[in-house]
Amino acid sequence: MASLSQWIVTEAENLGFDACGIARATALEKESAYVEQWLENQHEGEMNYLNRNKEKRYDPRLLVEGTRSIVTVLFNYYPKQKLNEDDNFKIAKYAYGSDYHDVLKRKMRRLLERVEAQTGKLEGSRVFVDSAPVLDRAWAVRCGLGFIGKNTALIHPKKGSFFFIGHLFLPLDLTETGQELTNRCGRCTRCIDACPTGALEASFRIDARKCISYLTIEYRGSLDGLDQKTFRNWIYGCDICQDVCPYNRFSLPNCEPEFQPSLKLLSMTKTDWKNLDQAGFEALFKHSAVQRAGFEGLKRNIGFISKES
Ligand code: SF4
Repeated sequence: MASLSQWIVTEAENLGFDACGIARATALEKESAYVEQWLENQHEGEMNYLNRNKEKRYDPRLLVEGTRSIVTVLFNYYPKQKLNEDDNFKIAKYAYGSDYHDVLKRKMRRLLERVEAQTGKLEGSRVFVDSAPVLDRAWAVRCGLGFIGKNTALIHPKKGSFFFIGHLFLPLDLTETGQELTNRCGRCTRCIDACPTGALEASFRIDARKCISYLTIEYRGSLDGLDQKTFRNWIYGCDICQDVCPYNRFSLPNCEPEFQPSLKLLSMTKTDWKNLDQAGFEALFKHSAVQRAGFEGLKRNIGFISKES
């Protein structure tokens, strides 16, 4: 099983994943205590789904019966070409290209096929990309792929934090491939200092209700009453706490064609965003993660940020 584990890690890298690790499927006790405290403080805002399926979220064996090992992969989304900052609004880098759920799942199914070519059909194996109650960052840490930064992101010590995270749940007793890393932020507090809305209240403590990413994507209510200047032109998501992180000095651009921004997206101006209609939205974001906010949500954000103060 040690050599099969190593083979899976190598095969994941051959398929273009930036990192891969394997951990035994067990209950996430200390990690669930942290989430429970966060929920108790009601920092999840309107993301009520986080209060459902908790047992499954905290123990993968309850989510998929028979799971013995978790294979976790990272896939870099740091873009080659960023959106123009002059006369423009901002969207989070992970949403520049095609919806990561689809792209990553396809790649992970390929990895599963290759594993099954070695082992035979693995009944009960599953692929998850932000699509089920799974504590993504906790599993990435367990798999030795990074540590949790003070900004609460997963940080790979050599490659930074601009990664999608995916998992294979396998009914196989595989050898673990990595060791958990403890936090390496040291005395740095750049992310906390840079957060314009104070959502990072303290190290490792984020109040989603103040987070620009939550407010522009998950939150469905009115933004009236909030200070639009603190949104710093973000109309979908926010990368500030990652952009300022010194570990992201090592970010390399991803080469995945499906994650590159379209020419149309690269050419957008503030006026284009303000004039965007439903048909234009569909043309820009047909297969994009921006669909999560939807046309109405994006227009709400654009209207809010453009408002005269
Ligand atoms: S900006 Fe500094 S404190 Fe924040 S996650 Fe990065 S290293 Fe840690």
